[in-house]
Amino acid sequence: MLQPGGELAGGRVPRHFRQLPCAVIPGPWPGRHLAGLPLTVLSRRCLEEEPFVEIVPYPHPALRWKAKPVSQIDAALRSTVREMFDLMYEARGIGLAATQVALPIRLFVVNPTADPDETEEEFVFINPEIVRRKGQVVGEEGCLSLPGLYGDVTRAEEVVIEAFDLDGQGFEMKLDDLAARVVQHETDHLDGILFTDRMRQEGTSERVDLKLPKFVSVYEQARRDGLVSSDESIKARIDEMVRSGRIPEDYADCDTYRGSFPSLSEA
Ligand SMILES: [Zn+2]
Repeated sequence: MLQPGGELAGGRVPRHFRQLPCAVIPGPWPGRHLAGLPLTVLSRRCLEEEPFVEIVPYPHPALRWKAKPVSQIDAALRSTVREMFDLMYEARGIGLAATQVALPIRLFVVNPTADPDETEEEFVFINPEIVRRKGQVVGEEGCLSLPGLYGDVTRAEEVVIEAFDLDGQGFEMKLDDLAARVVQHETDHLDGILFTDRMRQEGTSERVDLKLPKFVSVYEQARRDGLVSSDESIKARIDEMVRSGRIPEDYADCDTYRGSFPSLSEA
């Protein structure tokens, strides 16, 4: 059982993650897409399945949520994590945050090889916190919520991150290169921050800003066509998580997922 705000035990550092060669950068980061909407959304809907999670594209409001700490690790959370890995592989990504599948919890998954057979490279970060940053480096990023869009972002060159794994075990990792970039990108997601926001802060977003309205119009059409979850189904999913104790009860009254889509106009 994980308690919010509890002390991290620290100590265990998965060896493989630390030894990542930077050569695994598959730049530009791949992402299958059709008119800006991830195929994962379309294909699952075409099969008339009701997946528990799906990758939500920009400008879905979930991408602006500030996620809450995970309060409990159970079988349901483990199966959600498995689904997140599967969606990430389908979309040929190397990292996926819970807010990207419209879950308001502080959790992300990473496999820097993007290869589902490389299970030893799968890492789950629960309630992650970047506790140290060192140096600065510019590198290209992409995002499964903005398929096909890439841009240079300045990140810390080295980070130390603390988190819990799926066994509820606290760990600490010192990361650099691609791994450091991925965990900074994914941690940002848990605070509702996209890489395009970082570019805007740096004054380098002119090119990506021109492309965002296209994502907005594709998204609006997808909502009209029922290809993106309704507010009601997202709320039902969150209520279920509150009922099962996986996220704090006060989240049921949180306004962040209610109403409609204030971020539509921000592009
Ligand atoms: Zn992203």
